[in-house]
Amino acid sequence: MTRSSSENAVSTVFIGTPAVPGVVAAPAIRPVPRVRVDSENHSAVTDRARESEVLRQAATMVAQRLRERAANATGAAAEVLSANAAMAADPGWLAVAEKSIADGDSAVAAALAATEQFATMFTNLGGLMAERVTDLRDVCDRIVAELLGAPEPGIPTPAEPSILLAADLAPADTAGLDPNLIVGLAMSLGGPTSHTAIIARQLGIPCVVGVEGLDDVPAGTDLLLDGAAGRVLVSPEPEAIAAALTGHRAAAERAAGWTGPGVTADGHRVEVIANVQDGAGARAASSGPAEGIGLFRTELCFLDRESEPTVAEQATLYAEVLDAYPDAKVVVRTLDAGSDKPLRFAPHADEPNPALGVRGIRITARDTGILDRQLDAVVAAAKGRAHVPWVMAPMISTAAEAKSFGARVRARGLVPGVMIEVPAAALLAEAILEHVDFVSIGTNDLAQYTMAADRMSPQLAALTDPWQPAVLHLVAATAAAGQRVGKPVGVCGEAAADPLLACVLAGFGVTSLSAAAPAVPAVGARLAAVTIADCRRAAASVLSTTDPRSAREAAARILS
Ligand code: PEP
Ligand code: MG
Repeated sequence: MTRSSSENAVSTVFIGTPAVPGVVAAPAIRPVPRVRVDSENHSAVTDRARESEVLRQAATMVAQRLRERAANATGAAAEVLSANAAMAADPGWLAVAEKSIADGDSAVAAALAATEQFATMFTNLGGLMAERVTDLRDVCDRIVAELLGAPEPGIPTPAEPSILLAADLAPADTAGLDPNLIVGLAMSLGGPTSHTAIIARQLGIPCVVGVEGLDDVPAGTDLLLDGAAGRVLVSPEPEAIAAALTGHRAAAERAAGWTGPGVTADGHRVEVIANVQDGAGARAASSGPAEGIGLFRTELCFLDRESEPTVAEQATLYAEVLDAYPDAKVVVRTLDAGSDKPLRFAPHADEPNPALGVRGIRITARDTGILDRQLDAVVAAAKGRAHVPWVMAPMISTAAEAKSFGARVRARGLVPGVMIEVPAAALLAEAILEHVDFVSIGTNDLAQYTMAADRMSPQLAALTDPWQPAVLHLVAATAAAGQRVGKPVGVCGEAAADPLLACVLAGFGVTSLSAAAPAVPAVGARLAAVTIADCRRAAASVLSTTDPRSAREAAARILS
């Protein structure tokens, strides 16, 4: 925290980690805390039939609200909200709660008791089920609030556009945010590559994470948030707001006026493409300046599926994405199942450390069936098209894995590539490139595995910052390998969505930058404003730093 003062006022500045760029000035709001209830005070009911009816109505109301929010969301956000809506309407849970009511409990006490019973059961089952306990408790909190006539816990709907201050957000809360009303996010925890930050980026909400000291800022306080600088100014002076908004508006105008293709001011070509998760996302991207798709996260289409989708079902979904870019590059990633994105139909062992376990390409080590069927579906989706899709595998760690994958993809007439997101793969990128036609660097996982820091851990956000110099060294080594063998090296992790870092990546020799569609114009416009010589100087200078802040400052000195 720092203080800046003028004659009239003192403003406090809190510094965090930039997650989603953008400048906004608005009052603060805070999530509504869960209602604390003492179940003892909610026992002994006389009209049990009525109490059951009240509980059923409350659960139905909560399920309906979650369903409505799911209908207004897309992709992962919609999946999370639908799954929670299904939980609120679960007949098994309701039957257990109604049994408590039949025994004389109130609806509130019965909801709490049923939730505890299910939470214990889920925890004992472990694995995926255990991970659902947080969602289960969240749904119960909403039902209890409804029963007590209290505001629904979670994000309130503000009367005016506001900046949300919170410790961290549950995915269900982030998924349901309305970007017209929640215009900024500042979290004291959370990492720039957590899926919460990814959803904020997809929604285009400026966001700063890992901001210490926010807990004492009351709701209603005026704030100025700069997502690119990672700064939150409390009680800003009008001049500070005007200057920040003017500067941002100018950059936003440049971004809005950018129509592609990706090229530096002196004509060096770098493709600027989009990350998507379904046909709707691809169509949204193609209505903007993104030149193609650099990462289609196919696993996100199937998060709620109990059984493997048929080849025909998959082909229909993939065709929707290919349809959005009939004449351009589309990179389809094969299922990255496991870790934070488990799929019920994929073979996941119950592992103590799933991020280091059977994830991504590793699920096909014993049985390649699921991969073969997915590749057949891509072939079916691509039939009769002028552009052959590029297909890449996640979580490759050895040249042998790349060789086996490359052969399978090539045999079907598709263009093979792999993701570089494990340090071992970055170090052996040249050997890997012998077997495939391109690589794409997943900086989110590359940071996680290089820094030995869980990308989902809010406490470790500073370590998974893509500006970590150790991570940048591995990116530089991979790009250099691509240049030596003359094959494309893209970046599709969140690093590519940061306009300043995007220029540094171009300076390393990266040939394509793939980011969430809302981030694409700012990346393209920034690239158009610099020369490749300056990008290369910035790239060299970040490699001599030893921490993320110095790396950002070194790049900004040359490129701003
Ligand atoms: C990455 O790891 O950087 C990446 C793009 O893949 P995901 O975020 O889906 O793991
Ligand atoms: Mg990854």
